[in-house]
Amino acid sequence: MIRRLLALLGAMMLLALPVLAEDDEEEFSLSDLVELEELPVYGNAPWVFPVALEDIDPELIRLANKESLLPDDYVPDDLVLVEKNPDKGGIRWAVTPSDGKLKGQYLRAECAAALCAMNAAMREVDGFRDMYLKSAYRSYQKQKTMYHNRLANNHGRDDGWVSMEGASDHQTGLGCDVVPKNWKDKSMNEKMMKEPECIWMAEHCHEYGFIIRYPDDKQEITGIHTEPWHLRYVGPEVAAYIMGNGLCLEEFHQQLRAAIDTFLAEGGDPAAVQPLLDASGQ
Ligand SMILES: [Zn+2]
Repeated sequence: MIRRLLALLGAMMLLALPVLAEDDEEEFSLSDLVELEELPVYGNAPWVFPVALEDIDPELIRLANKESLLPDDYVPDDLVLVEKNPDKGGIRWAVTPSDGKLKGQYLRAECAAALCAMNAAMREVDGFRDMYLKSAYRSYQKQKTMYHNRLANNHGRDDGWVSMEGASDHQTGLGCDVVPKNWKDKSMNEKMMKEPECIWMAEHCHEYGFIIRYPDDKQEITGIHTEPWHLRYVGPEVAAYIMGNGLCLEEFHQQLRAAIDTFLAEGGDPAAVQPLLDASGQ
């Protein structure tokens, strides 16, 4: 990490180097710098973004919102039933949903394992109540039903609490609603943010590869009310970067897109970033 930061600093200082080189009559080149700091090069350009290319899994950063709708046939191919017995390394379910042929709480395998690992760690914290998985994977069809029920109960108005079909993070199989026991049977709201378990999740979820998908200060960008209970799995390196810099997933995508544009303009190998472009629908 430190090496990568140094590398980034080094790349940023490149602008100043011609001046230094004149004064000191020393020759620097980009390739020297890259070799010095071990920045990986693809094609003719280094990857200077603070998260390494191999640490960004295009599948795991998949964006679902009103601008980036998932298709109606998008179903993750590695959904697993989440173990519900904490004594067997699982996490309790608040409800047992049914969704087409699926009955129970499903998540993508890597996300389910990370959630159970996080829950095991939370069970070790003194004074914490049991955590419950309230909602996990939801299909396009299920989301459509929920959205239209919400509209019907709300005089046809979209109040921003239930996403329309294709726009739900839950369809990725990487989004999950996790609540302390005292919230398992009541409707969720922003007051949950003050619960010690939720404060802990905001501080530690990145260690398990999760981000808070809808932070309080990003409602303008995400278009969604704050949801301290909604965790989204993106992988540990991306999660550390997003949470460490106070971003939301939409902002991460903007930064990544800018980094890719620069990389390609400098002669980077298009094949190295194509999977990321494919995943973001570019
Ligand atoms: Zn949610």
